[in-house]
Amino acid sequence: MPELPEVETIKSDLTPVVEGHRFVEVEVLNPGSIRHPSPEGFRRGVEGQGVRHLGRRGKYLIIHLEHGDLVVHLMMTGGIFLSSHPTTRATFLLDDGTRLHFADRRKLGGLWLVADAALVVGKLGPEPLEPDFTPRVLGERLRGRKAPIKALLLDQSFLAGVGNMYADEALYAAGVHPLRPGCDLSSKEVESIHGAVRKVLLDGIKTGGASVDTYRRPDGSQGHTHRGFQVAHRRGEMCPRCGTPLQRLAVRQRGTYFCPSCQNE
Ligand SMILES: [Zn+2]
Repeated sequence: MPELPEVETIKSDLTPVVEGHRFVEVEVLNPGSIRHPSPEGFRRGVEGQGVRHLGRRGKYLIIHLEHGDLVVHLMMTGGIFLSSHPTTRATFLLDDGTRLHFADRRKLGGLWLVADAALVVGKLGPEPLEPDFTPRVLGERLRGRKAPIKALLLDQSFLAGVGNMYADEALYAAGVHPLRPGCDLSSKEVESIHGAVRKVLLDGIKTGGASVDTYRRPDGSQGHTHRGFQVAHRRGEMCPRCGTPLQRLAVRQRGTYFCPSCQNE
């Protein structure tokens, strides 16, 4: 569930808390959450290390340590909190007494300790908010791709960071039907999608992310992005632009919301 804006919000919230501090104790409560190395190797490898700075790539949070990178993926229900949480899977005690809680109800998220984050995030597609992601780059990546545009936006090797909510919002803003094959889009539509993806992600960051499910900021508070959603998670509601009932269909098993009259097939 947490997508680029939610992970970026967590990164910004945690930066002043952890940067320049040192991890003094790691406790692994759910060994399955540790993807690399072993849970014991992970604990020993992180303990004693200072935090240089925080980064993000797609939906991954990257904690750059003095030696190596601690990479976090929150998957569906993960979060990082500054106080105890009922679904805590690992805790990280800092040198000033602050304890971070990695919580994850469905236990699908993961933590890696690697020499370089690229070992985990190296195969991701372009970062949508970087200046080198231009309409032309998007157009080139769409060439020959017959898959529905919604499925391509969800594919992290096609474009990093966009998930179900922001893909629906972007396609609605661009007026493009989610099932349109990627290779059939006109250059004008590609430009609209490019602009819409960036806009919905930037709006999401500005408003602290979307708390539609388990996502909360590290201090436990909600983000506000979902209040501005036009179609995502608005089953049974009317299109805010034209009043037509919004429709839902499944794309790659993900519930997809759209307006059948504003989004051209
Ligand atoms: Zn409409």
